[in-house]
Amino acid sequence: MTLKRLKGELISALTGLELPDLEARLIIRHVLSLNDAEQIIRANEEIPDEYAARCLDLAGKRLKGTPMSYITGKKEFYGLEFDVNENVLIPRPETEILVFEAISYLKGIANPAVLDLCTGSGCIAASIKKNIPEAEVCISDISEEALKTAEGNFKRLTGKSPKAFLGDLFSPVESNLLFDAICTNPPYIAEKWYEKLEKEVKKEPQNALIGGGADGLDIIKRIISEAGRHIKRGGLLIIEADYRQISKIKVLMEQKGFEDVSAVKDLSGKERCVKGIFQPS
Ligand code: GLN
Repeated sequence: MTLKRLKGELISALTGLELPDLEARLIIRHVLSLNDAEQIIRANEEIPDEYAARCLDLAGKRLKGTPMSYITGKKEFYGLEFDVNENVLIPRPETEILVFEAISYLKGIANPAVLDLCTGSGCIAASIKKNIPEAEVCISDISEEALKTAEGNFKRLTGKSPKAFLGDLFSPVESNLLFDAICTNPPYIAEKWYEKLEKEVKKEPQNALIGGGADGLDIIKRIISEAGRHIKRGGLLIIEADYRQISKIKVLMEQKGFEDVSAVKDLSGKERCVKGIFQPS
């Protein structure tokens, strides 16, 4: 069939979605490597059957809720293009504020050591390294597949290898390692919120989203309790969370020796991160 006909079929298959035309163009771009202008110029060209079938198959996946980023295998974050797959959370624009805050803090420190805990795709770690090349960046994750994805992104985007720890939060991190900053976007969705999430979000790894307990704070509580063993005096801990959790997190951090504890808002004006400086008495 012609490209024009294929596009028409894709659009009608995708009518249930909000932007069927855009979806169709993205699928064609992904399968046939044709940008929007090329798709117009080459509208009357014949498309081999297997390519057309591949496009229609992906449209079916989209209808079932597979996020477009898992179809294309890419997601832009902090001006960089990350490889993503079904083992990692798709980087969110909200998390860019955490990276911005961490970079602003680290710019004042010579050769800073940084840990990105629950690294997932590695988006936080690689964005920091790209902007502060002299930083020594470590990553950790409980998922081996996620850690591999993060290492791949880090190497491709920065040309360097991160020190990578596989395991539960701080447990695999060598006990003598102290960081100038610990940055984390851990799983924090409360179980009762999970059911209400969109179909697409539920295609992302559950263990990257659900944080445990009725309030979703179990993992964050463990991070705050254990961070003191791996953070330098005067070092930064910055945690992403839901706006409904921020006030509790502030109190927890103050109880564990953090000072100047404050919330940072995301671009939609919601409190999205908590940061504090470790100053144990
Ligand atoms: N650090 C990754 C991100 O910010 C993964 C977070 C996660 O899996 N909870 O996207």
